[in-house]
Amino acid sequence: MNTPIRREYDVLPCMTTDPEVFHDDATVGLAKSLCLSCSLWDLCRSQARERREWGTWGAETAAERAAAGYAPRGWRWDRPQQQSGKRKRTRKTPAGKKRG
Ligand code: SF4
Repeated sequence: MNTPIRREYDVLPCMTTDPEVFHDDATVGLAKSLCLSCSLWDLCRSQARERREWGTWGAETAAERAAAGYAPRGWRWDRPQQQSGKRKRTRKTPAGKKRG
């Protein structure tokens, strides 16, 4: 089915960009700028906080989420953290859409 919502998801910046951009410290600036051009960034940010995600979501990095009290699972304050952590990287799921 090709609903208008489905079409909106198809054009989200993270659906048309290499997922590595959102999980690499070297490309944080690009990831943030892509998120800030996204219509779902606010919802995406709050859902990433709830899910304790790694990487950049809703223009917020894992370190910024941790500082706001939503540290990703496995986060360690006693050593520098990479955007991706040690968890397996998965394809990003846009805000409001279930993984599956
Ligand atoms: S990660 Fe979230 S805010 Fe960033 S482009 Fe994807 S859906 Fe939008």
